[in-house]
Amino acid sequence: MNYYVDERGYYGEFGGAYIPEMMQANIQELRDNYLNIIESEDFRNEFSSLLSEYAGRPSPLYYARRLSGRYSAHVYLKREDLNHTGAHKINNTIGQILIAKKLGKSRIIAETGAGQHGVAAATVCALMGMKCVVYMGKLDVDRQAPNVLRMKMLGAEVIPVTSGNMTLKDATNEAIRDWINNPSDTHYIIGSVVGPHPYPDLVARLQSVISEELRWQLREKTGREYPDYIIACVGGGSNASGSFYHYLNDENVRLVAVEAAGKGIESGETAATIAKGSPGIIHGSKTILMQNDDGQITEPYSVSAGLDYPGIGPMFAWLHKTRRVQFSSATDNEALEAAFLLTRLEGIIPALEPAHALAALGKLEFKPDDTVVVILSGRGDKDMAAYMKYMDERNL
Ligand SMILES: *Cc1c(COP(=O)(O)O)cnc(C)c1O
Repeated sequence: MNYYVDERGYYGEFGGAYIPEMMQANIQELRDNYLNIIESEDFRNEFSSLLSEYAGRPSPLYYARRLSGRYSAHVYLKREDLNHTGAHKINNTIGQILIAKKLGKSRIIAETGAGQHGVAAATVCALMGMKCVVYMGKLDVDRQAPNVLRMKMLGAEVIPVTSGNMTLKDATNEAIRDWINNPSDTHYIIGSVVGPHPYPDLVARLQSVISEELRWQLREKTGREYPDYIIACVGGGSNASGSFYHYLNDENVRLVAVEAAGKGIESGETAATIAKGSPGIIHGSKTILMQNDDGQITEPYSVSAGLDYPGIGPMFAWLHKTRRVQFSSATDNEALEAAFLLTRLEGIIPALEPAHALAALGKLEFKPDDTVVVILSGRGDKDMAAYMKYMDERNL
């Protein structure tokens, strides 16, 4: 079974590039060049030195002693929360800005929902002295003021989008329009393993530094390169793709992807795409998405902004179909509870997204000797308002 992208840009029946004619040239340029660039010695040297000296990699693999006691297994946390800007997203934006430079681009565009990807993009633009334009739905601009301020301080221009629902999907449409109008000097940095080929493959390769590190870190700590389980949350799927990447063909490793169930899978307020979705086209690729009978995309819901997306990367549609990855989900409440448990047992405040992965620990049956890696994709600073609300409600 092939779990990686094929020559036509598909994962089984999913993926491809369903894009307007006007965008063909931009995508073709990227498609023709991305593999040569990321496999070149020049790129690899620059990428790895920025990852270590700027982003702070390798991220630690931490043995969580008290959490392990709680779940009767050996639980390790992959600390992506300790990266510069607080999440795994920086791995991708560093890689893509280096590619943009090699392609001779001088201007970056990005779209963002919660603002995490926008901040990561604005950060690397400041670092490289490139112009940065971030499209963001007007509603999200109002909801995510601290990240908007960060982007502005970093020198990015944030454009509020007032079409449609004024959220992520509308911001994406504006970014695509911009790219079509500025094909020669602009690179579009997509923030997850979504979008037309080659983006899903490109982003997965850039994020695969996570599983590359896991191999030697596990060998050092356990004497074995592979764990029994890897658990990661999925919005689009970039932290999961990077964590699973080097283990996809190793059937010893059980791979678990955790979606955001929101208020419950059957509540109508959910972001559990695999549980509730069906095949269709979103963001330029064929995948699974949440839609109504007329094929209109359903507005997703999750307490966690990073998982609040109505689709999933095409790689994960395929990994689900082939059953290579086991899908699970956690509700808002389960995630909040898991975040507090980690905080009180280990002194680590996680972001709400990986709190969903932590919640899955209580739903799996481990053997006492199992080695379990949970991907801690980001830190909790951005989620303090949600945590405070939970504390007030529960009198914690
Ligand atoms: C954006 C984000 C996610 C979700 O995106 P993926 O592409 O699925 O990884 C998860 N965790 C954090 C901390 C994020 O910022």
